[in-house]
Amino acid sequence: MERTDVLVVGGGGTGTGIVRDLAMRGLDTTLVDRGGLGSGTTGRSHGLLHSGARYAEADATGARECIAENEILREIAGECIAETGGLFVQLDADDPAYFDAKRDACREHGIPAEELTPAEAQDEVPDLTDDVERALSVPDGVIYPSRLVAATAADARAHGARILPDAPVTDLLIEDDAVVGAAVDHEVGEIRADHVVNATGAWADQLGSMAGVDLDMKPTRGVMIGVEYSDLGPVLNRCRPPDDGDIVVPHGEQVVLGTTSVAVEDPDDYEQAEWEVERTVEECAAMLPSVADAEQTRTYWGVRPLYGPEEDELGDERGISRGFFVVDHADRDGLDGFTSVVGGKLTTHRLMAEAAVDHIAERLGVDAACRTAEEQLTAHDDPDRLDALVEEFDAAGPADADVVGRR
Ligand SMILES: Cc1cc2nc3c(=O)[nH]c(=O)nc-3n(C[C@H](O)[C@H](O)[C@H](O)COP(=O)(O)OP(=O)(O)OC[C@H]3O[C@@H](n4cnc5c(N)ncnc54)[C@H](O)[C@@H]3O)c2cc1C
Repeated sequence: MERTDVLVVGGGGTGTGIVRDLAMRGLDTTLVDRGGLGSGTTGRSHGLLHSGARYAEADATGARECIAENEILREIAGECIAETGGLFVQLDADDPAYFDAKRDACREHGIPAEELTPAEAQDEVPDLTDDVERALSVPDGVIYPSRLVAATAADARAHGARILPDAPVTDLLIEDDAVVGAAVDHEVGEIRADHVVNATGAWADQLGSMAGVDLDMKPTRGVMIGVEYSDLGPVLNRCRPPDDGDIVVPHGEQVVLGTTSVAVEDPDDYEQAEWEVERTVEECAAMLPSVADAEQTRTYWGVRPLYGPEEDELGDERGISRGFFVVDHADRDGLDGFTSVVGGKLTTHRLMAEAAVDHIAERLGVDAACRTAEEQLTAHDDPDRLDALVEEFDAAGPADADVVGRR
């Protein structure tokens, strides 16, 4: 039987961010994932490094978090990201007042935003539709999720953490109204811990149910389609209220089109509908017409780990907060030693981890400060080493399959 200060369950962006932060603050910590690192939503996301512009007019907190974390990741994450820039394009069917509101909100929240004429936008993206009325240039970028989780885990390990992919938790150990560890399959056995973190994203209810707590997650699925298209340059975002098929993410020789938002009951078993693919391609082609007939290289779905209690009154899944939540089950459910960290975005994973570890450190009486924003990730500047880490942690996923390991 193993013993650790903190056991982190889930090796996506959130869990790897948490284990790195814990280890850097001097805590003994172990991370387990039922599969490879990033094999949940992280490795199946769209991989947009948000500037915050997407949220600017509707969610000031989310927008400010994104621009701050975007700037931090540019400093610490090296070849785990690509600094492509991004455009929000207003087409002739789109409401000009929405564009104005987004531009003004970006500037209010400290997101650099330069308005471009159609000619200037087409100068950046020659294949952009002639329906473009104007564009907003913002510091969006691209995340390669498999490299990010592998580098973050490797950094945690360099600070003393144990990282165990292929280690599914089958039960939580409970004694005297406290979670005291987990039973882990695949010959790992029991791991006892002073604190257990539920960083299982869309699976948070499944893990929570092992301790008798209900997080009321409201996961939604979305499709992404990789197509052949070289040298797009910036990320393309449709400048209209969030809808299906409004983002094109550049990946060198390909672009990734996305996405949709449909509620699912079970993150392991959901419909993958052809209409989602067709609609996403059609909508993205409204911005970049040549993707309509481009060769499709891969299609994959991911499931957003949305936290249900924040659902807005409209009951629209797109209205569910993209913010994150640190849920202390001692306060909420009378269960000590157990914290869930849910919601959020890959762009803000480091901040989520900082908030969670601030909370856990306080519970454990540790007062070391967070340093994850100041120190660069292991191998951040070496794509070959990063790709070797991806292999070692079994972190390859569809989101960046056309880039990672292809050198
Ligand atoms: C369609 C789509 C597009 C997105 N696009 C973007 C984007 O462009 N930019 C952005 O910033 N964010 C984006 N997101 C959001 C982002 O991907 C997620 O918020 C983030 O990756 C969630 O990370 P996580 O670590 O919380 O969850 P996950 O990555 O799902 O990690 C949870 C882990 O827990 C593990 N696990 C589950 N149960 C167990 C168990 N019993 N034992 C052990 N391990 C277990 C799983 O294997 C998994 O690896 C997108 C999401 C979706 C669905």
